[in-house]
Amino acid sequence: MGHHIVILGGSYGGIAAMRRLSKHPEIQITLIDQHPYHFLQTEGYELISSNTSFDETIVSLPALCANYDNVTFKHRTVRAIDPKKKVILLNDGEESYDILVIAVGSVTKRFDCDETVYNYSSGAKSLRGAVKLNQFFQHELYKRLESDKKAKENFNIIIGGAGLSGVEIAAGMQYFFNRYYRSNALSCATLHIHLIASRETILNGMHPKIIKVATQRLKKLRVKVHTECRISAIENHEVLLTNDSRIPFDFMIFAGGTTTAPCLEDLNVEKNQKGQILVTPYLYSTSYHEIFAIGDNAALIDKKGKPLPPTAQTAIQSGEYAASNIIRTLKNRPLKKADMKIKGIAIALGGKYAAIDLGHIRFYGYTAYLIKKLIERLYKWPLWWLVSKGFRKIETCPI
Ligand SMILES: Cc1cc2nc3c(=O)[nH]c(=O)nc-3n(C[C@H](O)[C@H](O)[C@H](O)COP(=O)(O)OP(=O)(O)OC[C@H]3O[C@@H](n4cnc5c(N)ncnc54)[C@H](O)[C@@H]3O)c2cc1C
Repeated sequence: MGHHIVILGGSYGGIAAMRRLSKHPEIQITLIDQHPYHFLQTEGYELISSNTSFDETIVSLPALCANYDNVTFKHRTVRAIDPKKKVILLNDGEESYDILVIAVGSVTKRFDCDETVYNYSSGAKSLRGAVKLNQFFQHELYKRLESDKKAKENFNIIIGGAGLSGVEIAAGMQYFFNRYYRSNALSCATLHIHLIASRETILNGMHPKIIKVATQRLKKLRVKVHTECRISAIENHEVLLTNDSRIPFDFMIFAGGTTTAPCLEDLNVEKNQKGQILVTPYLYSTSYHEIFAIGDNAALIDKKGKPLPPTAQTAIQSGEYAASNIIRTLKNRPLKKADMKIKGIAIALGGKYAAIDLGHIRFYGYTAYLIKKLIERLYKWPLWWLVSKGFRKIETCPI
């Protein structure tokens, strides 16, 4: 039997690594994920704002993996990794590996507050979180239609963090509310979205033109943006901001940062302050040569040594580089330095409106929206095609 490579996490990074490794029939690959699907986080804002159904935002992992004779998919949860024994502890048994690829992403950071508030907070990084948010808002709108009293009550949603995901969620949701407002002004006038930005602008670090366009768009949609303040405390149903203001809230979404996936917390490898695994320029861990880390759970840097932001595009590129270096390791060939690049940033700004920054050119509005949709489709359509092929293969297999 050939080498056994285990990939933890079947999302942007893990799938990219799996597809490249699968071209080598001498290698046995096991892909493990806690869900039987890859959730397209980059389209989560569409789901939250009711612009799409959840089946449009997923890729079936068993069907995808059925296309490759040397790939086995295991729907399991990783509990811990024992790098000395080269074993992964799962919710149901263990899995040993020769080479490990860690691609479990990150989780939304939670605000350190009263347990009861957790009932009102949710992240958009998982399908469950996005569906929960969407259902909650649909239900709130429905209650307002049914009851005059309810419709007159203020309903405040706080989004903590005004980076790319916070802005996309705020714009998408406000657009969704505005749509209802047009058809039922009476029941929706008291719904408000507050976006909390710790810096002096939203989308800190992005090009000034993109910041300007996004700020104007949020204003037009009627999102209430609070800049240069942080959430300092949460008391019952009120957030206290560092500028001493208080906002009563009914629902909160944290988009202010991410942290280590729980299964990596006890993994004894070198990590940075955010809990990301430190990797060499070849993408294996600085602590273990046979452990590669890619995507959001890795401290990725560009060729100049500058940290790369956690994005789907860097997750995909790092997955491909790691797979190539695994093949080189197995063939005793010299490894190649990874060279991940941010090719551009596309931000959805509610409805059919987006802003795109390709570095040398920036544009926004409906054209940018169409290009964003095209980018999303160019990623998911080839995967869906493989999934439909894989389903046919599974269906014709005798049970
Ligand atoms: C709202 C939003 C919008 C975004 N928009 C963009 C965008 O426009 N462009 C862009 O490039 N990036 C965008 N991003 C960022 C991008 O989605 C992430 O950087 C990307 O998903 C990282 O991919 P990954 O493969 O590293 O990890 P993830 O996509 O987080 O996947 C991790 C996988 O590991 C699995 N896993 C985790 N823990 C376990 C466990 N214990 N056991 C088994 N399996 C486990 C999960 O189920 C999941 O399938 C956005 C993110 C958000 C939240």
